[in-house]
Amino acid sequence: MTVSKTLPVESPTLYIVPTPIGNLGDITQRALDVLSRVDLVAAEDTRHTGKLLSHFGINTKTYALHDHNEQQKSQVLVDKLLTGLTIALVSDAGTPLISDPGYHLVNHCRQAGVKVVPLPGACAVITALCASGLPSDRFSFEGFLPAKSKGRKDKLNEISTVERTCVFYESPHRILDSLNDMLDILGPDREVALARELTKTFETIQSMPLGELVNWVKSDPNQQRGEMVLLVHGYRALAVNDISEEEKRALTLLCKELPLKKASALVAELYSTKKNALYKWGLENLS
Ligand code: SAM
Repeated sequence: MTVSKTLPVESPTLYIVPTPIGNLGDITQRALDVLSRVDLVAAEDTRHTGKLLSHFGINTKTYALHDHNEQQKSQVLVDKLLTGLTIALVSDAGTPLISDPGYHLVNHCRQAGVKVVPLPGACAVITALCASGLPSDRFSFEGFLPAKSKGRKDKLNEISTVERTCVFYESPHRILDSLNDMLDILGPDREVALARELTKTFETIQSMPLGELVNWVKSDPNQQRGEMVLLVHGYRALAVNDISEEEKRALTLLCKELPLKKASALVAELYSTKKNALYKWGLENLS
């Protein structure tokens, strides 16, 4: 593989440039090349990005583009791009657009025919997922959970039967409330992972059943600090062949008096097992 140190910066082009999520060593050579060669860096917080740029000896001008002005400033940036300028978009940390500003700008650029070039780089979702031990073949990134318990529980109910790994960003002052709501909705046995302070000195990645994780986080205030990603194992539907002989006997008996649906619900309640699997077994064997 060859690594170009003199990337041609084409115009008009918007570059999407990820920055480190903690460890400055994670900036890529290509990101540094682009940031030093573009005409303008659109940044979520120009002071924060200014420090990053000066750490790497880059003096490209910055332009503020954040959640509160993005809709209005995107057109201004597209107009600059159309005059031939090249612009790099960065956020405070990680990949722009991933729970960060940038969507409106990219959308405007594409509609105006401006080339958008994404650079790969640091992103907390992917960093957490690949070390969590949870299935990574299919996953769903859900952003931040709602701040209020009602909204949070609605969201958790919505994902409770999703079979993919679900990944959430969470803030330290809400972690205990969110974990308690998860316990209510998903139960103590659901496998979860908490990935904290990724790429930093106190990086911690812990996977265990939800009930145990809640106690672990409650008993150690350090686990309630810093930046964190919460990952939830997908729902595992009980397979028909996981039904015990006793459950089958109970269902067979009840089905003599009740419709299959009702009988399956009663057996599921009695044996804390899955209604759908019982119903399916009943359809195949008792109808
Ligand atoms: N754009 C970023 C990315 O690519 O990951 C995410 C920005 S979002 C505003 C910030 C959230 O990402 C944090 O509240 C936390 O949930 C997660 N995050 C960012 N850096 C992290 C880190 N070093 N360790 C764990 N979580 C992190």
